[in-house]
Amino acid sequence: MKKNNEKMGIKGQVAIITGSASGIGKAIAERYAMGGAKVVIADFNLEIATAVAEEIKATGAEAMAIRMDVSSEKEVNAGVEAVVKAYGGIDILVANAGIQIVHPIGEFSLEDWHKVLGVNLDGAFITARACMKHMYLAKRGSIIFTGSVHSKAASPLKSAYVAAKHGVLGLARTIAKEGLSHGVRSNVICPGLVMTPLIEMQIPVQAKMLGISEDDVKNKVLRMADTEGMVATLEDVAEVAYFFAAMPTNCLTGQSIDVNYGLLCS
Ligand code: NAD
Repeated sequence: MKKNNEKMGIKGQVAIITGSASGIGKAIAERYAMGGAKVVIADFNLEIATAVAEEIKATGAEAMAIRMDVSSEKEVNAGVEAVVKAYGGIDILVANAGIQIVHPIGEFSLEDWHKVLGVNLDGAFITARACMKHMYLAKRGSIIFTGSVHSKAASPLKSAYVAAKHGVLGLARTIAKEGLSHGVRSNVICPGLVMTPLIEMQIPVQAKMLGISEDDVKNKVLRMADTEGMVATLEDVAEVAYFFAAMPTNCLTGQSIDVNYGLLCS
């Protein structure tokens, strides 16, 4: 049997993580920094992104912050070029930035539809495309998308989000096919529920729209009752992101991992 001599790890690699001023993205940036990567905190909110980069630098790791609205082609392209100038290339992209707007589909405005698709799906495409250009030149790279249980299943009130997250899975699978001969892989993390500002702000909104209690939203809509109240932590999701990035070969590509205590097994 052929032995794989390369070891798991990301030491010295350059990783851009979008939406990393908060929540899942921040946890992934911290995990990558712990693994010895140079991390780029790319977020809409430069002030918080800078504070996160400073926190990471205080641990002795390398980090930089850039303002990047992932729905803006111009900002993404400029941000990626700035990273290449500073660090010489890009080994890992985690396309993680995401937003949510909950609303019944019958009254959902096209403007809000475009907003959700613009960040969650267009943003994933734009950032992946900008990084792939450099990864193809280097003939190596790992792209990781933060999908969701909603990449594979639907919930009421989340039409645009569910459509976008299903789209992310399709995008990742296509990049896996096209990227293979260029040394680039592409995978998706599908968290179920993780307590972050994105979720916390939805609970009272859904309770009001559905006319139920916040506990009912947690147990019946977010289906915490199905996992006996267990939810993945930020660290759980970050560890999966580390695994996808640290694999020494591209044997895992076009794959998705559900991180959800068995809520959805796919
Ligand atoms: P969060 O709200 O804590 O963090 C989102 C981050 O994205 C913020 O720092 C925000 O400033 C940034 N952001 C928003 N719009 C942006 C834009 N246009 N450009 C760049 N950055 C932008 O949310 P989170 O829960 O950590 O979500 C991260 C990802 O995980 C999202 O893609 C979300 O859909 C996905 N997800 C979350 C859960 C969950 O339960 N929290 C479950 C499944 C998937």
